Amino acid sequence: MTWLVAAAAPLAAVLGAETAALLTGLHRAHGVRIHRGTARAVLQRRGRAAGVRLADGSELAADAVLMAIGSEPATEWLAGSGVPLADGVACDAHCAAGPGVWAAGDAACWPDPRTGRRRRLEQRTNATEQAQHAARNLLAGPDGTRQAYAPVPYLWTDQYGLRVQAFGRPGGADRFELVDGSLADHRKWVGPACCWLLRSAQP
Ligand SMILES: Cc1cc2nc3c(=O)[nH]c(=O)nc-3n(C[C@H](O)[C@H](O)[C@H](O)COP(=O)(O)OP(=O)(O)OC[C@H]3O[C@@H](n4cnc5c(N)ncnc54)[C@H](O)[C@@H]3O)c2cc1C
Repeated sequence: MTWLVAAAAPLAAVLGAETAALLTGLHRAHGVRIHRGTARAVLQRRGRAAGVRLADGSELAADAVLMAIGSEPATEWLAGSGVPLADGVACDAHCAAGPGVWAAGDAACWPDPRTGRRRRLEQRTNATEQAQHAARNLLAGPDGTRQAYAPVPYLWTDQYGLRVQAFGRPGGADRFELVDGSLADHRKWVGPACCWLLRSAQP
């Protein structure tokens, strides 16, 4: 199997270079070939996928092609409705997008007080936490008791029996520090702004 990756390493932007290197080694150890490049077209033969053509003109042959290239919020249907749109539904810090309109989850873009920047989070736990937060603010009413949404993002991924859990934004960390265990034993890493806990995905 070949994994075509546009970035320097799989998941580096999300999990940071060190974790990405660990996962790259894990995939290679399981027979996956990591190929750096950008797909431009899916090749077909007799009505079936036969590989991909890359931006540099080269081709990778394949019996099947799985595309996992991210997503964009489909908010076109809200255009002209008065709901502000900018990389999703543009909310205020309380997850309100206008009088009586609230947004949460993948499509909600809000000013994160932790970073001062507008962002969206595409993670399942965030969809739940942001919806709960929006509901609390909705019930609080506009009398000043509303709270800004300031989550600590959390994500997990299970790969070959290894579970990676990340808090914060490991991909944005400016420093990596190993305070316990070792990369080889896959057990526990802690960084300055986030924490990686790696353990067996088996119960
Ligand atoms: C393949 C895949 C793997 C994932 N793996 C993980 C993971 O391991 N960990 C993790 O944390 N997250 C993961 N995610 C992300 C996670 O699934 C999402 O962050 C989460 O589902 C977002 O919840 P949501 O309620 O915002 O949106 P959704 O779950 O997408 O729900 C939106 C709902 O709105 C409906 N809808 C859309 N437009 C309209 C409309 N106009 N009118 C009425 N209904 C509408 C849709 O049909 C859908 O039911 C994964 C996502 C995918 C696609």
